[in-house]
Amino acid sequence: MPIHEGWLSGARRVPSPNHNARPEGEVSLLVLHSISLPPGEFGGDDIERLFTNRLDPDRHPFFAGIAGLRVSAHLLIRRDGECVQFVPFHERAWHAGRSRWRDGEVEREGLNDFSVGIELEGDEVSPYTAAQYAALARATRALLAGYPAMTASRITSHARVAPLRKTDPGPAFDWAFFRQRLAATDIFS
Ligand SMILES: [Zn+2]
Repeated sequence: MPIHEGWLSGARRVPSPNHNARPEGEVSLLVLHSISLPPGEFGGDDIERLFTNRLDPDRHPFFAGIAGLRVSAHLLIRRDGECVQFVPFHERAWHAGRSRWRDGEVEREGLNDFSVGIELEGDEVSPYTAAQYAALARATRALLAGYPAMTASRITSHARVAPLRKTDPGPAFDWAFFRQRLAATDIFS
């Protein structure tokens, strides 16, 4: 599952205007997230609508408060494992917000500058699906191959980089299982 010009092959492309250039061109960190819209519901196209500024604020009470956000992620992995890509990986998506990452001896902020954001469709407590772990392992393997500065030790979560604000992807995300799947997945899987 290689990457061509920043796009993951096999991913459905839904280009988002919510991106800009990476200031240094660096792509060296993977931040895992989760999202469901409306909260706790799976399916539908509201996540795509949010990331492309087309969310209907009247469709659900929760939407009025978020419809004006200008946010995105590089990739969304749906419950059935489908990958939807909004921003090419070499561009800066708007997923992490205020965030910090300890990079060796250096405390870095503004992680959108050098990270890739992957959203798993989920509510933080329902177990993620086998199809999602498989798709995430394949996408991560492709990123590790395509961006050598990103290594397996440079995979984190939104909860870890924004601990006072965020909890995603939550306790439902099984890191040990993901690591196992990643180790068992090669670039040609
Ligand atoms: Zn998040």
